[in-house]
Amino acid sequence: MLKKVEFSEKEKDDIRTLMKFVGIYCRENHNGERVPFSFILFDIKEIEKKEISLCPDCSQLLTYGLTMRLKCPHDPKPMCKKCETQCYHGDYKAKIREVMKFSGMYMVRHGRVDMLYHYLI
Ligand SMILES: [Zn+2]
Repeated sequence: MLKKVEFSEKEKDDIRTLMKFVGIYCRENHNGERVPFSFILFDIKEIEKKEISLCPDCSQLLTYGLTMRLKCPHDPKPMCKKCETQCYHGDYKAKIREVMKFSGMYMVRHGRVDMLYHYLI
């Protein structure tokens, strides 16, 4: 760990949501080998008690997403799709959209509509 980072409640919330969305997507779509996700910049367990396992592709996507979230220059952070700073480019953008759509629908089907209020992208 490079340094002790303090997060606002909103940031923690977004981090948890991002983890949840990518976690569901990977679990439901990828059958390959999954390893517990860890993040280089901070100890993920300080924010989310539950560990998630991801395939290498999804780990990369989540790492990217978390990094971008923490680098967001706006305070308060706007909805990503309405933001002038588009963090996600090319493949990552297509991928995160797919993840949000899939996991968003998954949560609706499973009665987790409350999660959608936190919809990030
Ligand atoms: Zn995956």
